[in-house]
Amino acid sequence: MSQGHGHGHDEHAPIRHDGHSSPLARRARALEALLTEKGVLTPADIRSAIDALVSRTPADGAKLVARAWVDPAFKARLLADPKAAAAELGIDLTSYARLGVVENTDKVHHVVVCTLCSCYPRMLLGPPPAWYKSLNYRARTVADPRGVMREFGLELPPKVEVRVLDSTADMRYLVLPRRPPGTEHVSEAELRSLVTRDSMIGVSNPQPERAHV
Ligand code: FE
Repeated sequence: MSQGHGHGHDEHAPIRHDGHSSPLARRARALEALLTEKGVLTPADIRSAIDALVSRTPADGAKLVARAWVDPAFKARLLADPKAAAAELGIDLTSYARLGVVENTDKVHHVVVCTLCSCYPRMLLGPPPAWYKSLNYRARTVADPRGVMREFGLELPPKVEVRVLDSTADMRYLVLPRRPPGTEHVSEAELRSLVTRDSMIGVSNPQPERAHV
């Protein structure tokens, strides 16, 4: 399940410099200084790339999921070639090494973790939540995924196979959660509002209640 964890740590260097002494922060600043000195990047390029990353929200992920729920052909394309499918909706994922989209069904349930650090599809979900980065989540999701999901309020029937995906800097995952029952007549726009960040990580399922608009 591990992908060899060849971490490039491209997205792991501290974005906000909250400490001046951290070795990672010093390394990032040294790299930044060198790149600007050599004329490879301008400080404005760096700033705008950081802004683009931190301004992402789970709305883009939700857009993909809702479209997949209402359009089976799009779902097939999303599972087969996530980047191309995302581009159809105007979401640019070209800077990603690889992105996998995995579908949760009544038979198999995927949950995503980065056991080494906090690899996460930021371009689709925004910055990861604190719990995703915690040692507790990283260790326990592998050892006891059902127990972790239970803490998020998800009790899976024993017959459902649980697959834990270990993401890396080179391979990130988006979970395509199950469409909540009773939402057959809910519009795509309303469906989007049902798709939670946590359901796209796989620790919970979207709930139908919020569909009552
Ligand atoms: Fe990581």
